[in-house]
Amino acid sequence: MADKSGGIKGYRIGAFGPGGIGPGAMKSEPPRPIPHPYEDVADPARPRHVLDYVLARRSILETIKNDVLAREKVCDADPYLVRAAKNHGEQTERNCPICAKSQLRHVTYVYGDDLGYLAGRVKMSSELPQMAQEYGHFRVYVVEVCVLCGWNHLQLSYVLGDGTPRRPPTKPRDVLE
Ligand SMILES: [Zn+2]
Repeated sequence: MADKSGGIKGYRIGAFGPGGIGPGAMKSEPPRPIPHPYEDVADPARPRHVLDYVLARRSILETIKNDVLAREKVCDADPYLVRAAKNHGEQTERNCPICAKSQLRHVTYVYGDDLGYLAGRVKMSSELPQMAQEYGHFRVYVVEVCVLCGWNHLQLSYVLGDGTPRRPPTKPRDVLE
């Protein structure tokens, strides 16, 4: 059982947010130079290096089907993630697989050293095509969230960018966070 819940945690990202470790800690890619080396990219806005977590999702749902207590573990959305889902999430037509009372929302994060201080921001999917032209390489993480019960799961991640190395932007002095 301990092994199983450990397996669940391995795919889960309840730790998203400023207080958490973020997806960088999943070590999906080895350390790399900054900026990312040149890549030959035909279409900067076309997802590449796609990682789909649908099998992981299925196995989590299968695991908790007969285990009510385990549901608490998978409905552990960080308050920051729930807020992001409410304010910036994009409504889907899929019902929550746990409570079935709410439609899931997608929250899209962008990460990558090339983004400099902008790494870790929540973006609307409509903003991504333009970003793909402005940066060489960054990874997009799409998280599904139920704002009612707190179910959250990394659904998909992929790389965008035109492949041309640039210096990461530095934070303007007049930007207050
Ligand atoms: Zn739910």
